[in-house]
Amino acid sequence: MDFVYKCGHAGHVTEMPAEKQHLADAYVKRAEQRDCSDCTQELQEYGFRPISQGRLIPLQGSEKQIAWAEKIRKEFLDEAHRNFKKSLAAGVNTAEEIERAKEATIIAFNQQNQAKWWIDNRGRRVSIFDEEYRKAQEVLVANENS
Ligand SMILES: [Zn+2]
Repeated sequence: MDFVYKCGHAGHVTEMPAEKQHLADAYVKRAEQRDCSDCTQELQEYGFRPISQGRLIPLQGSEKQIAWAEKIRKEFLDEAHRNFKKSLAAGVNTAEEIERAKEATIIAFNQQNQAKWWIDNRGRRVSIFDEEYRKAQEVLVANENS
């Protein structure tokens, strides 16, 4: 039986014998009220869902390159997120500023859609995005003020 999680992702439960169908129905009913496990995990990890909600653009390259590059991109995202947490905890930024910083990070990351670029830059610090990040921040602030 196919169903849709609250987050919009598709779910599936295997067919049940008739006498157990009510269990499957109950499961689906609950599942439709919540996010899928990928979205739930991402929300816990980042406070938003850049990957599962498709905010990060698809990468171009061979299948192998893309799989590798997506892992590298996630490492950059993890580093950015650790920085956000630190500056929030230290009172350097407000929660509102962090929300904007997350948006700016996604925009900055989305300037790079070649898997090869991510692979070539693996192991570097997230600060390589400083330029794009600053530009994205400017656009976001301008939009908020308009
Ligand atoms: Zn989901």
